[in-house]
Amino acid sequence: MIVAPKIRGFICTTAHPEGCAKHVAEQIAVVKKGGLMENGPKRVLVIGSSTGYGLSSRIAAAFGANASTIGVFFERPGEDDRTATAGWYNTAAFEKEAKEAGLYARSFNGDAYSDAVKTEVIAAIKADLEQVDLVIYSLASPRRTHPTSGEVFKSVLKPIGEIYTNKNLNTTTGVVNEISIEPAQGDDIAQTVAVMGGEDWEMWMDALLAADALAPGVQTVSYSYIGPEVTWPIYKNGTIGKAKEDLEMVQRKLDEKLAPLNGKAWVSVNKALVTQASSAIPVVPLYISLLYKVMKAEGTHEDTIEQMDRLFRDRLYSGNPQPDEAGRIRVDDWEMKPAVQELVGKRWTEVNTDNLAEYGDFAGYQSSFLRLFGFGLEGVDYSADTNPNVPVPSIGAAAA
Ligand code: NAD
Repeated sequence: MIVAPKIRGFICTTAHPEGCAKHVAEQIAVVKKGGLMENGPKRVLVIGSSTGYGLSSRIAAAFGANASTIGVFFERPGEDDRTATAGWYNTAAFEKEAKEAGLYARSFNGDAYSDAVKTEVIAAIKADLEQVDLVIYSLASPRRTHPTSGEVFKSVLKPIGEIYTNKNLNTTTGVVNEISIEPAQGDDIAQTVAVMGGEDWEMWMDALLAADALAPGVQTVSYSYIGPEVTWPIYKNGTIGKAKEDLEMVQRKLDEKLAPLNGKAWVSVNKALVTQASSAIPVVPLYISLLYKVMKAEGTHEDTIEQMDRLFRDRLYSGNPQPDEAGRIRVDDWEMKPAVQELVGKRWTEVNTDNLAEYGDFAGYQSSFLRLFGFGLEGVDYSADTNPNVPVPSIGAAAA
């Protein structure tokens, strides 16, 4: 079939197999440019490994350190007349490239919040790798079914206490208008913390510890975001920010639990980037458009792969993680540089639909978004017939 993008609001319902493969290949090339890391990770579990920061983490570990990787994700496989989700194609391509490079790679498609998936994945670790020395926790999900109570929690992106009104970008039309978001109500905060907070990360680490599946000196990392004040009501001080506070609380608990292994838990604060998760957050896409323009002009723009490559090489495996006063790793350091934030802040007050192309990198935003789904990559013939039913080698073609 001929596969074209079908965009519905902030999601694209189709994905291009060759385009996703090219996107993965480009990420691998970025990591390979840096050569092999000394003392990098060797046996890695990535939870949320198919797109965004998790996929880039898996690529950075495999191609930057020759690591064996196990990936867990929730994606839809393709059918003869229907494309898979991008993360499925990304994983198919990653495994193919890993195999060609002689690297172990195995993947699991299922609900990472469930006990069943934890049990299955840990059994695979024990059988194939015995233990892991790095666990990346990179899930982003709108909902979670609790494994013991069966309750379904829903995560919301809302301010807390009062209505938040600010500029917003319609990422399909390029219109800059205003949005007002009602504050959290009822148990919105608790629901969001239950999905995006640290409970499931801790459950994974507890289960891995109990199975003796963590190697001495193990590190585990979960990702967070802080960003500029203009987004704080919807992010840092909003419902999602409460979940990230919970993640930091769990990080400190995990530090204690991992101490006997000489292990370490981290929260890494990453840069704002276009991913499937971030494009759903109000206000943030306009901020990202302005940020990209400033950082590209400055020559400091990074995508998820450059971020994860730097996290691994310069922080986690450099012997010098450079934690901030709260013990967090900060690879958002270039984004948060005062000169960058001053210019973005100034443009924020001035930006409107007419000057968006001048002040912001809307074209870059849109192209990054399409690339997430395998569209707009150089060298891919989008007019050619393609087979959407691509297997992930370690899983096959079937659904979870
Ligand atoms: P993403 O949407 O690209 O990736 C989410 C991953 O989680 C995918 O692999 C998906 O398959 C997996 N997943 C979702 N639900 C699952 C389930 N039930 N079972 C198994 N797998 C499941 O998101 P992302 O932007 O890369 O976000 C990853 C983390 O990085 C999040 O904690 C996010 O808050 C954080 N972060 C993102 C940004 C940003 O700007 N995108 C910035 C800083 C931090």
